[in-house]
Amino acid sequence: MTSTPAPASAALFDRARAVTPGGVNSPVRAFAAVGGTPRFIRSASGAWLTDVDGFEYVDLVCSWGPMLLGHAHPEVQAEVSAAVARGTSFGTPTEPEVLLAEEIVGRTPVDAVRFVSSGTEATMSAIRLARGFTGRDKVVKFAGCYHGHVDSLLASAGSGLATLAVPGTPGVPASAAGETIVLPYNDRAAVDKAFAEHGADIACLITEAAPGNMGVVPPEPGFNGFLAQTCRDHGALFLSDEVMTGFRATRQGGWGLDGAREGWVPDLMTFGKVMGGGFPAAAFGGRRDVMTHLAPEGPVYQAGTLSGNPIATTAGLATLRLATDEVYAHLDRVATTIRDAASAALTEAGVPHVVQSAGTMFSVFFGAEPVRDFAGASRQDTGAFAAFFHAMLESGVYLPPSAYEAWFVSAAHDDRAVQTVLDALPGAARAAAS
Ligand code: PLP
Repeated sequence: MTSTPAPASAALFDRARAVTPGGVNSPVRAFAAVGGTPRFIRSASGAWLTDVDGFEYVDLVCSWGPMLLGHAHPEVQAEVSAAVARGTSFGTPTEPEVLLAEEIVGRTPVDAVRFVSSGTEATMSAIRLARGFTGRDKVVKFAGCYHGHVDSLLASAGSGLATLAVPGTPGVPASAAGETIVLPYNDRAAVDKAFAEHGADIACLITEAAPGNMGVVPPEPGFNGFLAQTCRDHGALFLSDEVMTGFRATRQGGWGLDGAREGWVPDLMTFGKVMGGGFPAAAFGGRRDVMTHLAPEGPVYQAGTLSGNPIATTAGLATLRLATDEVYAHLDRVATTIRDAASAALTEAGVPHVVQSAGTMFSVFFGAEPVRDFAGASRQDTGAFAAFFHAMLESGVYLPPSAYEAWFVSAAHDDRAVQTVLDALPGAARAAAS
């Protein structure tokens, strides 16, 4: 599966493979799921990416979520430039950390947050805190939810009747995976059974607030509230991972889709992506009595040389301050327009598909049935997606290079960018049909 030749990208990819495993610093960037040469991006502005061959693409990846306002937003750039001029890292507390923490506490139900540098660090640290707080070791997660490359969370469901998980990759000790229980998403009976068997040993249940890492698979109505209640009934903590959904799915993140309305609150939450404004920043936060267990206030150790970095927190703060209700209304409109047009084009071309969303996040599954869990997501026609992907790329639209990913839009997706996507869809749908 190939697109128009991209000689400069191809040359860089060859050099990259000589010095970096697979030529990339995060696997999905390698185009392994769709074939062809990954595009090396030289610059980006607003909704557009420009690669090293000079091709331009409307970006529907947005750096895998962070670029809520679009690329190189002038006000964010100005704040960041001013921060860089003041110095890039001090290893001391700084004002932007306080301001960003206040902004996050203001938008979400957490009482306090601790900054880290990646979503992986956030979930890893939140789990340590949950274990330290409860004095228990086991963690429940759902198949298809991704929480970063934490050992105990790279676990797969054991076969047959086994409840305890097995390593999801070489390098994860069986002992680490063995503390994890992996369940099918949206399956209340499986949750009840796991808690009936292991409830007294479970430190926390972690879930994506609305999963986006197997494509977008929204929680069935009341599912997150049920999880929160189940955890409470068993003295476990409910950990809602909002690294992807936070400040993206809605102004209040995934929690704004259900918890805010239904009146339940996670014990712990994790954030990343948007809150770093394109820089490495993430956070975990939650109930005050849980967060006070963290060093230096409490006994659970956690630290980071670059945690709360002044440039990253400045970028995150500028992004969140500019992410007004109007921005979320715009994201909703753009997402709806693209989603509906993709569905219409695929229907016209006779390609079985299902479009699913959670707030402003959405994805297209290349299969006939609605998807409620990872087994459903796995029944897609990934070959049809690959053909669709390359046809979109040739028409100047950069989709996530995998059928198992959410599509992201930004405040900078204006009429010209959206029209480019709409114009590309019918041809790509025909390519997927053939
Ligand atoms: N949690 C969720 C829900 C994510 O989507 C991701 C990354 O995509 C992570 C955690 C890990 O974040 P990072 O890639 O910053 O380590």
